[in-house]
Amino acid sequence: MTWSSSEQAAIRQDIFAWLERQEVEYGGYEFTRDFLRTGYSYNGQTIALMDRQNGIWNPRGFDATLSITKTLRTQYADDVDGAVQKYSYERLPDRPLLSGRNLKLRVAAVLGEPLILFQEILPTLYLPRYPIYIVSDDPEAGYVQVVLDESMRLFNDPLELTAQQRQYAERVVKVRLHQKSFRSRVLHAYEAKCAVCTLAHPELLDAAHITFDSHANSTTAVNNGLSLCKIHHSAYDRRIIGIDGNYMVHVREDVLAEVDGPMLQYGLQAMAGRILHVPRRVQERPDSQRLHDRFTAFTA
Ligand SMILES: [Zn+2]
Repeated sequence: MTWSSSEQAAIRQDIFAWLERQEVEYGGYEFTRDFLRTGYSYNGQTIALMDRQNGIWNPRGFDATLSITKTLRTQYADDVDGAVQKYSYERLPDRPLLSGRNLKLRVAAVLGEPLILFQEILPTLYLPRYPIYIVSDDPEAGYVQVVLDESMRLFNDPLELTAQQRQYAERVVKVRLHQKSFRSRVLHAYEAKCAVCTLAHPELLDAAHITFDSHANSTTAVNNGLSLCKIHHSAYDRRIIGIDGNYMVHVREDVLAEVDGPMLQYGLQAMAGRILHVPRRVQERPDSQRLHDRFTAFTA
C-alpha cells in the first residue's frame, strides 16, 4: 500500500484528531502499545501508530517518520520536560548511522512533517504529544531536536530562545504537557475512579492538585493529586467539600442543611463521612499533611 503525499498529510491530521478524541471524548488517560498499534484505522485499514519495539516508526507507505517514542529507559530527567528535546538516531551495530529508520526521520526533518512523540510515563503506558516538529537535524552527532508545540516553530530560532520566548515555552510545556502527564499518572493510580464517589468514567474525571498548582511547594507527584469527578473536583476547589488528613470527606454545614434534588442529596450530602478511595500503592496515596493543610482552609 502506498499513499500519495496529500493522502499522507490527510492521514496524519486524521490521526491527531483520533488521538484527541481518545483523550477528550473517551477520557483516555493512558495508551498501551497494543492499543496504539491496533486501535486506529483509516478508510478501514489499520495503521499502527508506533513500532512494535523500536523508537522510530515509519509506517509502510509513508515517506517520512510518523512517530518517535521515548521509553523510560531512554529518556533523561533533564530533557523530558523541556520545550526543546533531543532525540537520538537509531544506532545499530554494523550499520551506518545514515541508513535504516533514520533516513525517514531525516525526511521528516526536511519536510517539516508534524510527528507524534510517545512518552512512556509508566512501564508500557504512553502519553502522546502531537503535533511535534523537528527543528534541527545533526547527522554527525546523530540526533534531531524537536519542539513540543506548534507555536514554537514560529520562533526565529527555537534553539536560541530569547528570555521572553523561553518564558512562553516553559508556560506552554507546563500547561499542555505537565498537566496531561499528571492526569494520566493520577487516574492510573486511582484506576480511573473518583476518590470521593468512585464514579468510574474517565471522561468525567480530573486530576486535582491537593496543594494548588500555583503554590511554591506544589508538586506533580501522584501523592499531591486526587482523582475526582468534575462535580467533586469543583466542590473541593470551592470548599463545598473538604477532606481531612485521615481521608474522611466533610460537607460544608450550610450545604448539609439545604433541601434540594438528587444531585445535592446523593451527589454531595451523602458523601459526608465517607472515606476516600485511594491507590493501592502506599506512596501514591494522598499526602496527609497536604490534605490537612487544605482542610484547615476548608474549616476556616
Ligand atoms: Zn465524584
